[in-house]
Amino acid sequence: MRTLPLLADGFVDLVLGSRCVGCERPGRPLCDRCRAALPVEASPRRPTPCPDGLVPPYAAGTYDGVLRALVLAHKERRVLALAAPLGELLAVAVADAAATAAGPLVLVPVPSRAATVRQRGHDPTLVMTRAAARVLGPRTVTAPLLRLRPGVIDQAGLDAAGRAANLAGSMTAPAAAVRRLARRCPRAHVVVCDDVLTTGATLREAQRALEAAGVPVLAAAVVAATRRRSAGGGSGVPALNFG
Ligand SMILES: [Zn+2]
Repeated sequence: MRTLPLLADGFVDLVLGSRCVGCERPGRPLCDRCRAALPVEASPRRPTPCPDGLVPPYAAGTYDGVLRALVLAHKERRVLALAAPLGELLAVAVADAAATAAGPLVLVPVPSRAATVRQRGHDPTLVMTRAAARVLGPRTVTAPLLRLRPGVIDQAGLDAAGRAANLAGSMTAPAAAVRRLARRCPRAHVVVCDDVLTTGATLREAQRALEAAGVPVLAAAVVAATRRRSAGGGSGVPALNFG
């Protein structure tokens, strides 16, 4: 009965009215004051420990406060109006991640489990990646190249080793889709996108699957990085060309 929670959410909104996810002020799901306080610059955020070979990950902020509330309300409570501010935050991270890269940009969202997308009724990461591409303009396209093989379980509750084992070899980039993209966007720079960076295992697996399909990855971009496992730092952005 997957529609029941969605109906319940709608009912609660109708009865209680919408509230800002940041300050709970009645009105829009993100009030002007909370929106104006969102980060406008990103920073490199390497998880500790960092998966070997992970491209530089950039985050618009730390996964707490308003950023955490935004991600969760969009993902779990399906507050679709939040796709726009989340897309702006992701665009901030992408812009920094690709600051030294000239030419077209291709944003590749990490894939969600099909069962989760059905349950939630949408694919939050794909939606916010598309919103980020719109913010970044005609230079940028979204390419949902990655597929998740069956058998991957929900990452919540797994530690770093458990996440890495759960995800190892779990993603694939179909050759036909890669060829189409190469024709459409030759010499584009590829940035892998996700909502939250925790251990880096998901981004690393996405990067591995793309590279295995012949797609070099420039960097990774997320809305927010968890504080516990991430610290400042990061190397320069390598100039890799896709094509
Ligand atoms: Zn607010």
